[in-house]
Amino acid sequence: MKEFNIAVIPGDGIGVDITREALKVMNKVAEKYDTKLNFTEVKAGGCAIDAYGEPLPKDTLDKCRASDAVLLGAVGGPKWDNLEGSKRPEKALLGLRGGLGLYANLRPAKVYDVLKTASPLKNEIIDEGVDLLVVRELTGGIYFGDRGRCDDNGVAAAYDTEKYNTEEIKKIAHVAFKSAMKRRKKVTSVDKANILESSRLWRSVVEEVAKEYPEVELNHLYVDNTAMQLVRKPSQFDVILTSNMFGDILSDEASMITGSIGMLASSSVREDSFGMYEPIHGSAPDIAGKDLANPLAQILSAAMLFEYSLDMSEAARDIEAAVQRVLDKGYRTGDIYTEGTKKVGTKEMGKLVLEEL
Ligand code: NAD
Repeated sequence: MKEFNIAVIPGDGIGVDITREALKVMNKVAEKYDTKLNFTEVKAGGCAIDAYGEPLPKDTLDKCRASDAVLLGAVGGPKWDNLEGSKRPEKALLGLRGGLGLYANLRPAKVYDVLKTASPLKNEIIDEGVDLLVVRELTGGIYFGDRGRCDDNGVAAAYDTEKYNTEEIKKIAHVAFKSAMKRRKKVTSVDKANILESSRLWRSVVEEVAKEYPEVELNHLYVDNTAMQLVRKPSQFDVILTSNMFGDILSDEASMITGSIGMLASSSVREDSFGMYEPIHGSAPDIAGKDLANPLAQILSAAMLFEYSLDMSEAARDIEAAVQRVLDKGYRTGDIYTEGTKKVGTKEMGKLVLEEL
């Protein structure tokens, strides 16, 4: 029997509600594949501030480091909104990414046939299909570069620096090409090479890495054009490879196309199989603890965990298929509800997925 250690951070708000459902699903799938999952629950975010006075206690980071993968709910809420920057719950996310060396963020955006009407785009655009993956560099670029305030000839000024080295670009490019090999074998590298020197280096390194993946088609797009193409013809994209800041913006745009943040999973990974998996949405304090949250994004995050960290692709496909069948049968949580479908709560939705497994 295979055995894995999973650190679980339910976090705050609906993080707790949805993680509870995801763990049941994980146990059920693990059982089917004769696998034992040892869950260690730890605190981060607002609940850690309440319990220990800091958003990311050392014990939490240590237990995450000692595990094979991390499942995270969401952190934050109005209760902690007035704390200063370094003490805020969201600081836990940066601490986890940095502390665990997670340099690649993978965000799939897929429109489910039965949820097409949730997309803000016209039917004829969505009908062509949307199934893309944004691979975003997560620990470099302008968010981590030199920054400061200065004096600009007597006028107060501020600056932030975009800097990438070849090694950083290579690492993230490999993640994108490897992901493409498991998908439709197309990578679109997004930069601003008509203006930025860092983008010109990015482009040349990506071209070098591409030579190692002859089966994968590579094209380059400027970030402004990509923003347009995402709403004009999202079906043209398979894997989008990009830097930290461009990825931050484009991945939100891509998720909006699907029209349902309660459905979208994400993972942050590094070169070994370790990763942290979480839904793209936040802690939704407005519906926390009310049995209203959609647990599917977290259940699909668990599917990604099986695929990337536990090398159990079949288990991942089982979870995805179960989610699809529940949707096909017309069950919806409030966020994706439309007339004529059957409205259910968080727990019921979790139970329905379990039954399909
Ligand atoms: P949010 O994603 O929490 O909520 C936005 C809206 O979407 C709300 O109306 C919410 O009810 C709804 N929603 C989100 N997830 C849903 C789900 N699974 N099912 C049904 N409805 C859902 O974003 P926000 O309101 O901007 O942020 C709330 C808190 O979450 C803030 O403290 C913010 O800092 C934090 N946050 C955390 C993360 C994270 O932990 N990764 C990410 C984003 C925001």
